[in-house]
Amino acid sequence: MAIVGIDLGTTNSLAAVYKDGRAQLVPNQFGELLTPSVVSVDKDGRAVVGRIAQERLVTQPQDTVARFKRKMGTDAVYNLGGRRFTPEALSACVIGQLVADAQEFLGERVDEAVVSVPAYFDVAQRAATKRAGALAGVRVERLVNEPSAAALGRHFSNEGAVAAAAADGYPPDETFCVFDFGGGTLDVSVVDCFDNVVGISAVAGDNHLGGGDFDLLIAQEACRINGIGLNALEASQRETLLREAERAKRELTDRDSHAFLRSSIPALPQVLHLTNKRLFELAEPLFTRIERPLKQAVYDSDVPAEEISRAVLVGGSSRMPVVRDYLERLLAVPVTCEEDCDVAVALGLGTYVGIKQRARGVDRLVLTDICPHSLSTDVRNPHPPFEPLASVLIPRNTTLPASSSQVYANSQVGAREARVAVYQGENVYAKDNKQLAELMVPLPRNASEQEAFTVTFTYDINSILGVEVRVHSTGEVTRRVYNGSSWDEGEGALATLQEVQLSARMEPTRVDAELALERALCVAAEGSDYVRNYLRVLTYDFASSLNSNSLKLLIMKTRQLNAVLDRIEADKADNAFFRHGDEGNCGEPGGPGDSLGEDAGDGSHGLDDGLDEEWL
Ligand code: AMP
Repeated sequence: MAIVGIDLGTTNSLAAVYKDGRAQLVPNQFGELLTPSVVSVDKDGRAVVGRIAQERLVTQPQDTVARFKRKMGTDAVYNLGGRRFTPEALSACVIGQLVADAQEFLGERVDEAVVSVPAYFDVAQRAATKRAGALAGVRVERLVNEPSAAALGRHFSNEGAVAAAAADGYPPDETFCVFDFGGGTLDVSVVDCFDNVVGISAVAGDNHLGGGDFDLLIAQEACRINGIGLNALEASQRETLLREAERAKRELTDRDSHAFLRSSIPALPQVLHLTNKRLFELAEPLFTRIERPLKQAVYDSDVPAEEISRAVLVGGSSRMPVVRDYLERLLAVPVTCEEDCDVAVALGLGTYVGIKQRARGVDRLVLTDICPHSLSTDVRNPHPPFEPLASVLIPRNTTLPASSSQVYANSQVGAREARVAVYQGENVYAKDNKQLAELMVPLPRNASEQEAFTVTFTYDINSILGVEVRVHSTGEVTRRVYNGSSWDEGEGALATLQEVQLSARMEPTRVDAELALERALCVAAEGSDYVRNYLRVLTYDFASSLNSNSLKLLIMKTRQLNAVLDRIEADKADNAFFRHGDEGNCGEPGGPGDSLGEDAGDGSHGLDDGLDEEWL
């Protein structure tokens, strides 16, 4: 059974697989890589997806729909061909088509999909995407943030990476920014790549900003110069005009000087002359919106701006010269946009499929992600305006999986139950955030005092949110898993959560770290008192980082420990370090007067060179 990666875009969708040792894009029935995310339903209830459906946007606009990704996770309903469709049912049609294409390409059945979502998608939107997969008949265990997928694709496709892979190594460490600008969403992320880990440090974005907004502005301008409002046109004319506007926008990209919108709509005889300068003026409000998530992501990442080496542009809208020029002016780092910027996400997904299938060459890669929105519960506010406050358990940009507990007390003495609500968002007052769910927890009868209880939120990389409440006086525990729209009562859901947490701990990085620790213990056992003392301190510190949620920290510490062990073993080989230690300098390492930094007499320096600063 095979796995397919699906980039479910607002405008276009793509499928990718891992085949013959590399990520490969799957062509559709027309041999094209991009399948328009458009669904049309005929009177018999048959759904058509892609290019043919796109044609029907003009001929049968009432039974055809595009851009439904913008409504994922809402209760929007579309009436097509006399039937009602939710955004997830429409997405399922697209996924189903891409899965069929992938099966054709691979010649085998596909039963699992890894689907990309905008990093800024919230819990409900993610859950709707997973349900879309299930409706299409495939298991979607993992959703990958679009910029993370793009980062994976880009980091492992540059020249350094190719050379490193050839030498059985990893690409050089780097921190870069991914600017993913598609048809309907903008995601900005700061990506930290080191060893086998591609880690997302921060994301920020706008779920309602994309190339479609430029099309709309151009269409409105075409109407304005003709003295008519866009809404005065019929639905099919509006659709035609939007398509013509999009064509003019693309033409402007290709020619990079000017383009004309000669509309086929009789009410718009005046031709719109479009230049990059004019487009920039028209789109100024959009550029103001672009700047905000950029600044936010860099600020949230805690990475000094000078450590960001480049900005990688992906997504179809990154092709626009006005976007590139704007970013070049705004950012102090090189801005790169490859020819294939609209397939970068899909290629990264293809690589991720390889990781999932444990394919040789990519089996040790780890992609870490973060929680894009803070998760909180509400607490009483004793001060005016007395609006309940959001008490954050998992702050946004926390690396996943994450788990956090806090102790609360119910506000009424003698209450029979406590209400624990889950909110998502960054606002101070709970009511300004989005309430996801609430849980009623039974409290003991006749309690004479306020009951204390510990609330634990666990949020994993597959967007599963677990809530656990333990009442202190009785020790009773209530556990629920939130599936994006309701509580999932089944034991299976709880088991999945625990399983996922366990497997996260089994990441190769942790295995490396544990091996380094074991190695340190062996070296210590064979070493002098001096070496033993020294390693005791180092491994004590190291062991505590094993529980850290930061893979980067773990990798740095593992590297440092291995470097120290290499040095000790090298010195042991020429007797330098041990001779030094056996001279009786067995005091606590790193302390005043410690002679670790002294020349061992043979040109080597034992454990000096900043190790004290780094370790002790
Ligand atoms: P994506 O969601 O990444 O497939 O991006 C789709 C968006 O990219 C749509 O709004 C397209 O109009 C836009 N796009 C694709 N190619 C170009 C181009 N050459 N110039 C301007 N916009 C483009």
